[in-house]
Amino acid sequence: MKDDRSPEKNLALRSLPQVDECLQKFAGSDILRRLGKRRLTDIIREAISGTRRSLLAGETFADVPSEVEARVSDLARKSLTRGLRKVINATGVILHTNLGRAKLSDAAREAILSVAGPCTLEYDLNTGGRGVRAPLAESLLAELTNAEDAVVVNNCAAAAYLVLRVFAAGKEVIVSRGELIEIGGDFRVPEILAGSGAVMREVGTTNRTSIEDHEAAINSSTAMILRVHPSNYRVVGFTEQATLGDLAELAEKHGILLFEDLGSGALIDLAKFGVKDEPTVRDSVAAGVHLVSFSGDKLLGGPQAGIVVGRRELVEKLRKHPLYRVLRPDKLIGAALEATLLAYSRETAETDIPVLRMIAETADAVRERAESVVSEIREAYENAGFSVELRKGFSTTGGGTAPLEKLETWLIAITHPEHSPDAIAANLRAGEIPVISRIEDDAVCLDLRTVGNGSELIRALLDAISAKD
Ligand SMILES: *Cc1c(COP(=O)(O)O)cnc(C)c1O
Repeated sequence: MKDDRSPEKNLALRSLPQVDECLQKFAGSDILRRLGKRRLTDIIREAISGTRRSLLAGETFADVPSEVEARVSDLARKSLTRGLRKVINATGVILHTNLGRAKLSDAAREAILSVAGPCTLEYDLNTGGRGVRAPLAESLLAELTNAEDAVVVNNCAAAAYLVLRVFAAGKEVIVSRGELIEIGGDFRVPEILAGSGAVMREVGTTNRTSIEDHEAAINSSTAMILRVHPSNYRVVGFTEQATLGDLAELAEKHGILLFEDLGSGALIDLAKFGVKDEPTVRDSVAAGVHLVSFSGDKLLGGPQAGIVVGRRELVEKLRKHPLYRVLRPDKLIGAALEATLLAYSRETAETDIPVLRMIAETADAVRERAESVVSEIREAYENAGFSVELRKGFSTTGGGTAPLEKLETWLIAITHPEHSPDAIAANLRAGEIPVISRIEDDAVCLDLRTVGNGSELIRALLDAISAKD
């Protein structure tokens, strides 16, 4: 084997640096400070063995140690960008599940910081003794939805699971065939039901399920009727669905529960902003639903959380169940949720909560902000051969809400004669603060509706092309 190697190749292999030698080169560097010695050492080993493989495969390098160093820097950069990072959501999808759903209000961010140290999580300042968890969030939720009580867990899937487990394990749950849905991120109604130990009793058909269908399925093992808001999916055309009022009456008559998994759970009516098919939690409570579950980070505009509101004795049972201890959220979530709900309670939600602000913003206002971004970047972009123009388009709410609603908007469309939209989008993602765009009609499109801070976007856009040269 060895005989096959040319003298040049042997020389190059012998010039591969030692790990310690290479580590020395990074002494005092930013890379060493951020990664720590152990991770950097692993990366150096990987870079050396990678370079060795390249040399054995016949590649040549002008300077082997510099090649190793370049590989170390590249691997270190990749390693440093692996964790959770802040991005700019320019996709126009307001509740982007992959980008962390609802953007929190300033008050919610401040609240998280202020309770990061010791706080009154379960402490009563009046008595100096033990207090209850999240009493303010729960009482605000009850107040805002006109329910008797509320309890908060980690997410809406947990909330639905808790309700089913506590009230329907080993019993039957009646659910319409039109509501056996899957929400992005693997929430599947039949699987949550099976996991909770409840027996699913499907009734009706995909497009039509009547109140009689529900009534015919009730027997001595029935624990509840489950209504699921179809969220990211709509059945249109020849359809029928029992009203919540009729279902509530039926449940009362037979002494069973009516539970609605509402998912998005708007606290205020969004019809005036053009989002017409999202029911409010208050409507469900008013219709007589015993328990309603919904997410904290969808239309409510708060942190990831699952909320159950409804009858006091039922909610109390959920809170007392050992499973609640497993599913309860931490103090940071509690603080952010309280701060978000306080905006609703003050009736300043439409201006304070980013999700509602984004939904409410008119296309003209988006256009104005887009124009001011374009005026700042146009020259630099055009000098680099890009074309930048404004186009009409649509934003969406996302997050499994109002799938048919589109909000008119204006997009900044970026193209280049030599670079593909995929390459431009990848370059925008590679910066200090990655910009997440969407590709439409062969252009990279930026929707200012979901970008709160225009000057931050301008900086990121300018960085993205200056890094190219
Ligand atoms: C989104 C949604 C869920 C899941 O909510 P998470 O908070 O993501 O767990 C459950 N049910 C419905 C109807 C939904 O729309």
